Amino acid sequence: TSLGEALRRAGTQWPDAMALVSRHQSLRWTWAELDREVDRVACGLLDHGVAKGDRVGIWAPNCAEWAVIQFATARIGAILVNINPAYRLSEVEYALNKVGCSVLVTASRFKSSDYIAMLRDLGPERLPHLRLSVSLGEEVYGGFLPWSALRAEPDSPRLDEKALGIDRNDPINIQFTSGTTGFPKGATLTHRNILNNGYFAARTLGLSPADRICIPVPLYHCFGMVLGNLAAVTSGAAMVYPGEAFDPGLVLDAVAAEGCSALYGVPTMFISILNNPDFEHHDVSTLRTGIMAGATCPVALMRQVIERLNMREVTIGYGMTETSPLTTQTATDDPLEERVSTVGRVHPHAEAKVIGPDGATLPVGEQGEYCSRGYAVMLGYWDDPERTAEAIDSEGWMHSGDLAVMDEHGYVRITGRIKDMIIRGGENIYPREIEEFLLTHPSIADAQVFGVASEKYGEEVCAWVIRKPDAMLSEQDVLDHCRGRIAHFKVPRYVRIVERFEMTVTGKAQKFAMRRIMETELG
Ligand code: ATP
Ligand code: MG
Repeated sequence: TSLGEALRRAGTQWPDAMALVSRHQSLRWTWAELDREVDRVACGLLDHGVAKGDRVGIWAPNCAEWAVIQFATARIGAILVNINPAYRLSEVEYALNKVGCSVLVTASRFKSSDYIAMLRDLGPERLPHLRLSVSLGEEVYGGFLPWSALRAEPDSPRLDEKALGIDRNDPINIQFTSGTTGFPKGATLTHRNILNNGYFAARTLGLSPADRICIPVPLYHCFGMVLGNLAAVTSGAAMVYPGEAFDPGLVLDAVAAEGCSALYGVPTMFISILNNPDFEHHDVSTLRTGIMAGATCPVALMRQVIERLNMREVTIGYGMTETSPLTTQTATDDPLEERVSTVGRVHPHAEAKVIGPDGATLPVGEQGEYCSRGYAVMLGYWDDPERTAEAIDSEGWMHSGDLAVMDEHGYVRITGRIKDMIIRGGENIYPREIEEFLLTHPSIADAQVFGVASEKYGEEVCAWVIRKPDAMLSEQDVLDHCRGRIAHFKVPRYVRIVERFEMTVTGKAQKFAMRRIMETELG
């Protein structure tokens, strides 16, 4: 099935069920309405000469138009290019030119950035591929078409998939990775890649048209656009967008007002939802399930999500943009211990293995690099055969760069990123272990551990810690908590109490950026 067909089926099968609620836009569409809106925009794209294989960029925070353009591009076989809403001029220029975007749909403003002004500053010479720009803002800017210009008469015979030459193995999406470890890479994904991944995620959560998924994660990332939008279209569950970007108060409002049954987030989002001062004033009893993914999901946090957010059937997912994204997920009927401390077992129709430095598969229980294979592996990094060949080997295995251990029942534990491992005086230190330990302190809300360069040891351990609201905690308290309880070489050499971490828009802590700050500070 193609994405276009999947939406058509939803429109026919559940015409009157709620498909999309965009709370900040006060907009509600049923599946039939969404399907019709997508036909309009798909025809509008054809009217403007957009054809199969053309790259269409979207640079906007979460909004209903995001979902519309996602399905409309797929319906005509164009390739959607997700541009990070936090990008600045040079990053947008790089991304648009890297993939040769001929069309760009953009918000006018988001947070403190004026996107249109940034694009004007760039000027057409620096974006040689771009021939059509569309503004989602209400004002119409010189050179930018209004969104309404993309809404044509919905003429479904023009959208016949055979006539348009749509194939489920065609690329329809270029997604940039989060940029947690450095420069984002553009993963090229097909209908088959992402639609199936959305389907299996939905099946794992047991979603149906009775469910409403609260989606506070960015749509520009696979977590939102695949596990959110595509899990919805394959199951009939509604997508609920609580706001343009993550805000714990808006999430709680959305859950309570819409009666959401599922909630998604990266671990730091769940931490700030649980610590929100208004938490107790919101009714979250409709929640049942959801997905926590994207970064290490601490055991203590999982327990709180189950108990305080009432998400008894919450799952942990693990994956990467390059694998559409999920490759493992816990099941709602797994034993509790596995559900809170592992990332579950490999997804249907995927294979997994853990390999040693020599590439050989390791025995059960040994730590090595996690690799996966199957329908979900991307075609490759766009226009980057070298990096593609580094990531996907000749047998089709995607090398994740993550460290993992698999047990005899197939449950996988992610123990860190190879790049994050700290080597202090020859001793391998896994930051995740220290982070989990720090989180057992009653006054610590969140912790990030990373290495900083040291002349004496090569690297030293550094911890950045965020306090719980109103808690008293000093750097010395953190050290006292560690001493005698973890091995001396794991006790952080440096501790900083901070208000926030350096983060990607997807809500992941960028250790390389924190390391840079510390190293500058330490001289
Ligand atoms: P970049 O590749 O640009 O450095 P990134 O790897 O964070 O950024 P994504 O594709 O968004 O980009 O994220 C995939 C990575 O996120 C995985 O490789 C893994 O390190 C981490 N991750 C995802 N889910 C989990 C999880 N449940 N537990 C631990 N780590 C996870
Ligand atoms: Mg990555």
